[in-house]
Amino acid sequence: MTTLMSLAGTMQAPEVAKSARQAGFRGPVQLPGDEGYDAARMGFPALPNGIEQFPAVVAEALAAADVRAAVLAARAHRMPLAVQGTGHGTYVECDGGLLLRTSRMDAVHIDPERRIARVGPGAVWGQVIAAAEPFGLAPPSGSHAAVGVAGYTLGGGIGWLARKHGFGADNLVRAELVSADGKILTASAGERPDLFWALRGAGRNFGVVTELEIRLAPVATVYGGTAFFGIERAHALLAAFRDLAPQHPDELTVNAVIAGDRVGLRAVYLGDAESGRRTLAPLLAAGGEPVEQSFREMTYAETEGIGSTAPRQFELFAALPDDVLATAIRTVASGGADEIEVRHWGGATTRALGNGPVGHRHVPFSMTIAGTPAGAAPLAARATGGSFLNFLHDESETERAYTRADHARLREIKRRYDPENQLGSTHNIAPAHAPALAA
Ligand SMILES: Cc1cc2nc3c(=O)[nH]c(=O)nc-3n(C[C@H](O)[C@H](O)[C@H](O)COP(=O)(O)OP(=O)(O)OC[C@H]3O[C@@H](n4cnc5c(N)ncnc54)[C@H](O)[C@@H]3O)c2cc1C
Repeated sequence: MTTLMSLAGTMQAPEVAKSARQAGFRGPVQLPGDEGYDAARMGFPALPNGIEQFPAVVAEALAAADVRAAVLAARAHRMPLAVQGTGHGTYVECDGGLLLRTSRMDAVHIDPERRIARVGPGAVWGQVIAAAEPFGLAPPSGSHAAVGVAGYTLGGGIGWLARKHGFGADNLVRAELVSADGKILTASAGERPDLFWALRGAGRNFGVVTELEIRLAPVATVYGGTAFFGIERAHALLAAFRDLAPQHPDELTVNAVIAGDRVGLRAVYLGDAESGRRTLAPLLAAGGEPVEQSFREMTYAETEGIGSTAPRQFELFAALPDDVLATAIRTVASGGADEIEVRHWGGATTRALGNGPVGHRHVPFSMTIAGTPAGAAPLAARATGGSFLNFLHDESETERAYTRADHARLREIKRRYDPENQLGSTHNIAPAHAPALAA
């Protein structure tokens, strides 16, 4: 349905496109009715979140100068601006606004000496993994290679390397961005440290990032896979997981999963197969005889095959007493969720405290729940109320992703860098002294 805002945007569209060109925009620009508009307004491969959006203008940037031109054009015409790399993490429609696509800015350069990947905002993790692998290096990526480096890193980023090397955001060492008023800025520990802090976990709100430098880890092969057991072992396995995971070395990451009539473990050990087998053995023993097991030495790229649970709901837990475990088992058994993945965080995700607003670092456990809000409600009632930005789909709940103190600090920094709240169409952080949910 065409809203008043989208109608106004459509009428403004030719003027905004002209302004962008005059400000130096060189990439493709599509308006409603143009041949390429429908393909460009979607994500890649298509918005997976089920949102249909009808931007007034779709501008596909080729370089930082294009990003700057688009930001200035949207600002001059007071047109809402949305930024999209892959579209995987976009939950708010850009109707009647300027949709700035960065997917063509996907360059990846590896500096093996510094162990750094210099990455364009349109690159996806699969590109970085492939480019880093020949040097025996791996990035702090997540479960899927098609996810964008920018959205993932700026929203926190939890993956198999996090317990040893920190969140994706902790491994951001430098960013170049275009600010809301069209300045090209860099941020690092030594340059604009307040902005840099904010980018590491809330980075969608402070500029359009045009380049990221990401620290790589010396990881070539790992020991990883899954083991599944009959559902009758669920309580014993989950209780053992709860008790043993906090004692695991940072090299080992294990997620427990309740899936239909099975309970299982998904795990990666950053080391050789023999040590991995030894370290996992006590937890595997709690499951008894597996009905299926796939642990083996594999490349980092192959860890994608281990799988993960779709974060339709996500909750954090200060502790996992027996009755909470029983509630999780019952939730899957009763059809409230197709699958629940229990994760122990800890390790370097906890130690990097203070480097950025990402996550609730002191909270040890989470559940990723592939179910409806109603199905997840009994678990939500026992959770902390906090969340993790990359797994938080309801943008009206953005505050849940941050501690109260961090959120207040973010609003102050937002006031300095984007006082008119032009940026952050998904997961908005309103500038301090503005209404909390200002658009
Ligand atoms: C299949 C799948 C698996 C996933 N697995 C994990 C996982 O293991 N760990 C994890 O932490 N997360 C995971 N996620 C969540 C993922 O990290 C978020 O959805 C993330 O936002 C995706 O980023 P994107 O760039 O691909 O998406 P986009 O939709 O392009 O971007 C997401 C948000 O970031 C903003 N943004 C994008 N580019 C820029 C930029 N250049 N400058 C400023 N803001 C920008 C956009 O405005 C948008 O609001 C997964 C998601 C999917 C779909």
